[in-house]
Amino acid sequence: MEVRVQNVRKEFDKFPALHDVSLDIHSGELIALLGPSGSGKTTLLRLIAGLERPTEGKIFFGDEDASEKSVQERNIGFVFQHYALFRHMTILENVSFGLKVRPRSSRPAAGEIRRRALELLDLVQLSGLEKRYPNQLSGGQRQRVALARALAIEPRVLLLDEPFGALDAQVRRELRKWLREIHDRTGHTTIFVTHDQEEALELADRLCVMSQGRIEQVGTPDSVYDTPTSPFVFGFIGESSELAVTAEKGDLWLGDRPIGVAAPGHQGPARLFFRPHDIELVQGDAALAGIVASSRRVGGTRRVELELGGAAHRVEIDLPFDHPANERSRIAFRPRRWQLFPAL
Ligand code: ATP
Repeated sequence: MEVRVQNVRKEFDKFPALHDVSLDIHSGELIALLGPSGSGKTTLLRLIAGLERPTEGKIFFGDEDASEKSVQERNIGFVFQHYALFRHMTILENVSFGLKVRPRSSRPAAGEIRRRALELLDLVQLSGLEKRYPNQLSGGQRQRVALARALAIEPRVLLLDEPFGALDAQVRRELRKWLREIHDRTGHTTIFVTHDQEEALELADRLCVMSQGRIEQVGTPDSVYDTPTSPFVFGFIGESSELAVTAEKGDLWLGDRPIGVAAPGHQGPARLFFRPHDIELVQGDAALAGIVASSRRVGGTRRVELELGGAAHRVEIDLPFDHPANERSRIAFRPRRWQLFPAL
């Protein structure tokens, strides 16, 4: 375990930005803090960095209580959304900066600093550009410099706050892949803030899903995607459809129609969630049948919006292109997998 966040609460003028947050970050992992705007991701990252102090609770680095330690003492590498490169310095000077300003006792010799900076520029695939200034680089290249600069000090933990947020979608996707490769080569413990679930699913070893100042779920991308533990996570990660159903003595009802068996423990109004692509078409007396309201292409499939017994039960499913799906036609299906949560 590299970083332990223990029962942390953070208030800004009595406003609770984080409630009672506990999280263990493992050594060498890439963990994504994922959640909508205002869920507390950046606050949590800033607390780990030492840029903020917890109102309550503690933060450990290894076995050491780091709650009162300064940013410098924590040995953190930081990359923000808006590249904070020094404009008047060359790329090489930017990358060398963190080592040059070290106290003399721990500062490497000038030649060694240069060697390390060039090595890092090679790692981030910017060799040959060391004499340029930041304004002579593209946005994506600047973020790669920012990463090289953060890595130069050999940080204990690398913190990335929406590092690709300001870049266009194509560059973002490339940098995502590239960051994963760099991480696999260098093995730094990395905490990555994003509100982009696709980015988090692709990049991270584990996701920490946040909402309204609380951690909703922590787990591998597969486990969070396949077994969300709350309606919020089901709705936030991946595509989902929801039906308002009723559980009664072990049976599940959609209106007056029995649609399956309710898992033990469920009784009364419930919310049934499934993935639009997680359905199978069935013939004849179907578990669920709806009328096509609209359809549109989504990547390689067709996303069809169905009405089930009125607009109150609108669901989205994915169909193969060879399936006829005209407006008002009837489609019978069954979710292969679904999850039930009690209605609020
Ligand atoms: P975003 O994706 O928009 O950056 P976030 O999940 O990172 O959002 P935070 O920036 O951590 O969210 O903010 C969490 C809550 O705390 C928000 O309601 C925000 O307004 C509030 N907050 C954050 N920093 C401060 C501050 N310095 N003073 C007052 N309130 C703050």
